[in-house]
Amino acid sequence: MPKQIAIYGKGGIGKSSTASNVAAACADEGYRVTIIGCDPKSDSSITLLRGRRIPTIMDLMREGIDIREEDIVFNGYKGVKCVEIGGPEPGIGCAGRGIIVAISLLKKISSAIEDTDLVIYDVPGDIVCGGFVAPVKKGLVNEAYVLTSGEYMPLYAANNICKGLARLEMTLNGVICNSRGALNEEKIVSEFSKEIGSQLLAFIPKDVLVQTCERDGFSVIENAPDSEIAAVYRKLAKSIMGKRDGKIPVPLDDKRLRELTRI
Ligand code: ADP
Ligand code: MG
Repeated sequence: MPKQIAIYGKGGIGKSSTASNVAAACADEGYRVTIIGCDPKSDSSITLLRGRRIPTIMDLMREGIDIREEDIVFNGYKGVKCVEIGGPEPGIGCAGRGIIVAISLLKKISSAIEDTDLVIYDVPGDIVCGGFVAPVKKGLVNEAYVLTSGEYMPLYAANNICKGLARLEMTLNGVICNSRGALNEEKIVSEFSKEIGSQLLAFIPKDVLVQTCERDGFSVIENAPDSEIAAVYRKLAKSIMGKRDGKIPVPLDDKRLRELTRI
């Protein structure tokens, strides 16, 4: 069975950048990788496809056409299979439910999430309703990672995701810090990880290369392979591909969370 991971975190914190760079780094190592964008922004795979936007499963389903594999699964950097689920129309429908329907269609017409070594689900984490933990609940995901910076809002979202996982008795396999340059950031996120019973897997520095490569339609792994930031993503990819045991997280109370951001 492939390793099936979900990267959760607050909107805008860097999930798609991290997911696509980890996907590219794993593809460089010879792994077969599939990336499934579960965010309505549908930009999880854009830097693996040289800036090309692909149709989303939800959009095609709404059109009511007969969907074939080649309509929704696209080959990106070094053969990474790219799928975008998309989102519901604002105000109607449920994104969590949409993910489940879209994945079952994908499974029916494609082997992209079975015949592979790693599946990465890029999952939003601002609203942690039942729907958003659905991929975990339905057994589509067997490892969950949470991405945060040392600021209060992303930590609040990360802590909420932990609440969702704990309620379902699901494990968390690690915390990743995507730096926003906050004071004492590594210390804060490292302490947060420890207190929820997990560990800090990587500290990704804030680096303008992530943005310039993205603007040109590339991951840093593809366009700046010799950079320091590429090495950080490669190390994280290795760590994720290694054997990794998870633990049911113990979320913090709000008072402690606020204290943590002041250390
Ligand atoms: P999310 O998927 O969580 O909404 P994105 O991956 O789209 O977030 O990232 C949001 C923005 O932050 C993007 O413009 C991206 O280029 C930038 N970004 C992400 N990680 C870094 C980083 N380590 N250094 C600099 N910019 C980053
Ligand atoms: Mg995203």
